[in-house]
Amino acid sequence: MTHSSFQQHSHSLSNDGDSTDALEQGAVPDSDEPPPASAYSANANKREKHRKEKRFKGIPASSGIVIGKAVILATEAIAIKDTLIPEDRIDAEIERFAHAVQECTHELHRIVTMANDEAPVAAPILEAQLFILNDPTIAEMIAGRIRKCYHAESAVQEVFDSQQAILRHASDSYLRERAVDLDNVKQRLLNFLTGRNTVTTTQPEGIVITESLTPSDVMLFRKSGMTAFGTETSGITSHAAILARSLGIPSVVGLANICKRISTGSTVIIDGYAGIIIANPLPDTISRYEQRVEDLEHHARKLGKLAHLPSQTSDGRKVHLFANADTPEEIELARASGAEGVGLIRTELQILTHNFVPDEDEQTTFYKELAERAYPLPITLRAFDIGSDKSFGLIANEPNPALGLRGLRFLLKNKAVFMAQLRAILRASCHRNVRLMLPMITTVQEFQKSLQWVEECKAKLKENGEEFDAQMPVGAMIETPAAALIARELGALADFFSIGTNDLTQYTLATDRMNASTTQIYDTFHPAILRLLKMIVDAAHFNNIPVAVCGEFASHAAATELLIGLGIEELSVAPSSLLEVKKRVRKAVFSQTKQLAGESLHCSTGSEVRKFLTSGTN
Ligand code: PEP
Ligand code: MG
Repeated sequence: MTHSSFQQHSHSLSNDGDSTDALEQGAVPDSDEPPPASAYSANANKREKHRKEKRFKGIPASSGIVIGKAVILATEAIAIKDTLIPEDRIDAEIERFAHAVQECTHELHRIVTMANDEAPVAAPILEAQLFILNDPTIAEMIAGRIRKCYHAESAVQEVFDSQQAILRHASDSYLRERAVDLDNVKQRLLNFLTGRNTVTTTQPEGIVITESLTPSDVMLFRKSGMTAFGTETSGITSHAAILARSLGIPSVVGLANICKRISTGSTVIIDGYAGIIIANPLPDTISRYEQRVEDLEHHARKLGKLAHLPSQTSDGRKVHLFANADTPEEIELARASGAEGVGLIRTELQILTHNFVPDEDEQTTFYKELAERAYPLPITLRAFDIGSDKSFGLIANEPNPALGLRGLRFLLKNKAVFMAQLRAILRASCHRNVRLMLPMITTVQEFQKSLQWVEECKAKLKENGEEFDAQMPVGAMIETPAAALIARELGALADFFSIGTNDLTQYTLATDRMNASTTQIYDTFHPAILRLLKMIVDAAHFNNIPVAVCGEFASHAAATELLIGLGIEELSVAPSSLLEVKKRVRKAVFSQTKQLAGESLHCSTGSEVRKFLTSGTN
């Protein structure tokens, strides 16, 4: 089976034995120093010198700790020469290419089936590769090259490389991610055509370390025993990172040059809480981490009991815990973890993975299934938030897509798309447990217009004798500074608020949420964000409507007390984080959190806020 562009690095790397290299690039100082060398025998000293402990600092993408063996996977391009074939072999060569497509399609289908069993959230994302593989335009371009007497391998390489080059330079990160998918598809085809064997598995307990991973890689490596991963590329909101969180696979991203600095087979510890990878850990470090793993496991067993306990502070303030879920299976998981409902369903994932908008009936079937799985718990269907980093084929290229036709702006300009979705959501609301949420609002008019269209859809459905919830709540996502500043006015129209802290941070701090070089600036603890949160909560209370947080901040360990203290009544988090958050809610004392939040608002920097919150909770 050939399915990956990865090649395993089994050799030791040139700088690996450089024992003077105390801290690797991107490494962190050891806060808990190992014992001095004199504590070991002379032989042990020698050995330790040989395999010096190295620490690499990245960005925590998915929590958890794993100790295992590193599997370094490099994305190695296959050297393909521009071999020419005689004209009488053209047809046979086109046939050979078609056969490769067929075989690779068969193989990808198997991966999708596997994903359906193991991680349904990944399956539609993986299907994107199937679309690329079977794209008739790409196939025709390749056949065209073969007709010019190039053999299939060079035709595949040429065509895919030119398509990738276009995508790699796209300003849109979603399109850039498609370049990685193109690369994967190209490697699959080339591997098949050249009969080359590639790495398909990692050994059990393997910790995969590589440049970047696509969701299909995460699926596949997990299936073969990957317990954790580290990547050089960044982006905690990338599909692979989101998938890792939902599968509970510890991971660290943004580990600059790590592939060249450790070798396959070395023992590594991946600390998904701190965002650290430790290569060749000293015995002491290993025992410390083993103890932590044991504590965490004990902790997880205890958390299990929490699922059925109420989510409230120790002095009785109720904090509703909802889940962000995208598939029926995730809804099941959320229910099992004691979620009180689903606070965010990113409906645009359906479009992004298929690259077209499903028709009204297809949408209705899908939304109904979600609503039925959750019933009687409420689910919150967010209208398509397409545009910006969530672009797809039908969206025009924009010079600055994050500030362009995104979310509600796109929908209001594409009435047919919006109305079809509104009708589908209304039709799925017949059990009275569906809420509609509108993303990327900046003006009152956008919300008013949407409400007007919701009413038009209701009238149409009534005319057709369709059943729906005439009282279906319609909420506003508050994720732009403008929406926060006019929250009083929006609150007069909306049935609820849900704060999208991912975008609120991006837009308030004028920093791209996907840009690795501005990670330091992207800080939701920034006092500007805290003050906007306070403003939104006040506006919600003024209008007597509930207010939730559904961005990643809702599950941040240091943010729980702050959010409760600010008056947030609902937190919507990944199902895997739910019980951890509940534990913190139950430990909190509402009166104290209010004081903590009040004082945090007076801090002048994000780090001051974080320092204050940490000292306040310890
Ligand atoms: C947010 O912006 O916080 C949010 C929840 O939406 P998304 O991450 O899908 O933009
Ligand atoms: Mg958002």
